[in-house]
Amino acid sequence: MILYDFACTEGHRFEAALRSMNAENPACTCGAATRRTPSRLNIGGRASAGSSRDDMPNSWRGIRGGDPETVRHWHRTMVNRERLEEKYPELAGDRRPVLAHEGAFAGAPLKAGDELSAAVSAATFSSPTPKKEATA
Ligand SMILES: [Zn+2]
Repeated sequence: MILYDFACTEGHRFEAALRSMNAENPACTCGAATRRTPSRLNIGGRASAGSSRDDMPNSWRGIRGGDPETVRHWHRTMVNRERLEEKYPELAGDRRPVLAHEGAFAGAPLKAGDELSAAVSAATFSSPTPKKEATA
């Protein structure tokens, strides 16, 4: 099975596993025709399997104020994703809580369990802002 990203003519995006490169594209949950889209790459340069949990709408606005068609679409997407992650646990990715993601950590968020010195050296400090050491 090969994972592909798809986009339908209505703008929905999802992923599906095909038996081969030459298999027919699956129809979207809305019934529209689909085309394959290039897989996105994540920060680590690892090939992405398509919609991840981060892509899921997490606001009322993200699901167009509760439009039933959109909600159904994302529900199916989530269910498919969960099934996929059961089969391929490595797709679940890193679900550790993010401790810091702003400023210097914008490019490399600091996550729980990270080795602190490594995380800090990976952080990019755009402008040097020397911090005054607190002297007691
Ligand atoms: Zn669709």
